[in-house]
Amino acid sequence: MSEERIYYDQPYLTEFEARVVACDRCPEGYRIKLDRCAFYPASGGQPNDLGVIGEARVLDVVGEGDDVVCIVDREPGGGAGTPAGDHAGSGAQAGVAQAGVAYGGAAHGGAAHGGVAPGPVMKCRIDWDRRFDFMQQHTGQHILSASFEKLLDAETVGFHLTEHNLTVDLDIPALSREDTTRVEAMSNSIVFEDRPVAPVYPTRDELAKLPLRKPPARTEGIRVIVVKDFDHSPCGGTHVSMTGQVGIIKVLGWEKVRAGTRVAFACGSRAVADYGVKNDIVARLSSVLSVSVLEIEAAARRLTDQNAQYFKRIEAMTKELLAHEAAALASAGTVVAKHFETRDLGELRMLAGLIAAAGGKVAVLGSSGPSPHVIVARSDDLDLDARKLIEVAKAVLGGRGGGSPKQAQAGGQDSSAVGPAVEAVRQEALKALGLEA
Ligand SMILES: [Zn+2]
Repeated sequence: MSEERIYYDQPYLTEFEARVVACDRCPEGYRIKLDRCAFYPASGGQPNDLGVIGEARVLDVVGEGDDVVCIVDREPGGGAGTPAGDHAGSGAQAGVAQAGVAYGGAAHGGAAHGGVAPGPVMKCRIDWDRRFDFMQQHTGQHILSASFEKLLDAETVGFHLTEHNLTVDLDIPALSREDTTRVEAMSNSIVFEDRPVAPVYPTRDELAKLPLRKPPARTEGIRVIVVKDFDHSPCGGTHVSMTGQVGIIKVLGWEKVRAGTRVAFACGSRAVADYGVKNDIVARLSSVLSVSVLEIEAAARRLTDQNAQYFKRIEAMTKELLAHEAAALASAGTVVAKHFETRDLGELRMLAGLIAAAGGKVAVLGSSGPSPHVIVARSDDLDLDARKLIEVAKAVLGGRGGGSPKQAQAGGQDSSAVGPAVEAVRQEALKALGLEA
C-alpha cells in the first residue's frame, strides 16, 4: 500500500510530521518509509528532494513501485543522533542490508500487526531552497515546451534537470536565433501574466476532452498540470502555483543532438545568477579593451585581425633572419655543426634546411632546450645518409629519432648530452665524406 504523497497537492509544505512505517539498514545508512511523504523522489526528469527526518539527514529519495523510500544517514528516532557508521554491527559496514524494525503503521500492510508497535512520529523538513529551485525550473520547462510547440510545432521529447543544468530535447533538426527570441517572448509573457498553475485529476472522459500537449502513457489516475489557458501536460513533478514565480525564462544556447535539438535554458534565480556572471564578464572585457559594451565585438575582431597580421610579419621576418644566419654558418665549411642552448625546433629545422640548400653542405644542429634535439640535413649533391648520421646522435642522447636520407632528427631527455651528440655526428660526417676532423 502506498503512502500519502503530500508534494502532489502541497508543494509549498516544507515541514511535516509523519510516522515511520519501515526502517531498514542499507549500505548508506537506513531506508525509511513514511506513512505520508512530502519528499519528492527523483522522477520525470526532476531530481529528488533533500532534507531531514528527525535527526537523520536525507541522502536520497527514490520511488520503488508505489512506495517512496528515503535513504538517510542514521536512525531518525530511537537511536537519534547515532550515525549508522558508529554501530558495531557488521551489516552496514559489510554492505549487507539487515532487517530493520517492523512497525505496525497504517501504510505497512494496513491491518495492525499483533504486538508490533506503531512507528515513531518524526518531524520532517525539506531543503526548501533546493525544492523551490526545481519548482521554478520545472514550471519554466512546461511553459517553454508549450511555447516551442505553439510557435514552431516542436515537440519536447526529453527533459533533463540537475542542480546545474536544465535542457529540453526538441524533435526539430535546427533552430535560429529568431526562433528562440520568439519562443522566449511568448514564455516570458506567460510569466508576466502571472497565470495560475495547478494539478487536475481528470476522469477518463474528462481526460479525453483536455487539450493535452502530449498524450499520457495511461488514461486512469492521471495528474495533469494546467497552466491556465495555455498548457495541459501530464506530470508528477512539483510546480510553482503562479507563473510569476518562475521569474524569467532565458534560452542560453542549443546544439544538434542526433536528429533533434537540445536547448539549454535557465529560469528564475538561475537566470538571474547567469545574468550576473555574464554581466561581470562583459564589464571586465569592456574595461580590458577600453571600449563600451556595444563595441566589444568590433574591438575583439580588430585584435584578432591584427594578431593574424603580426603573425604573418613575424613569420616573414624570421625567415629572412634565418636566411642570413644560414649564410653566415654555411661559410664555416662542408660540415656545419652548432649547438644552441635553446632554440625552437621548427626554427632549427628550417635553419638546417637553409644551410643544406646552399649545396655541398651537411648541417648538424642541436638545441638543449626547450627539449633536447639534434637535426641533420644534407645537400642534394652529397652522397650521405642523414639517417645513418642521426643514429650516432641517438646513441649519445639515448633517445629516439629518424627521418629521410636528406634530413633526420633525434631527441632525448638529457640536455647536457646535446653538445657531445652534435660533436659526435660532426666527426662521423667528416669521416663519411673522407675529410679530416
Ligand atoms: Zn511538471
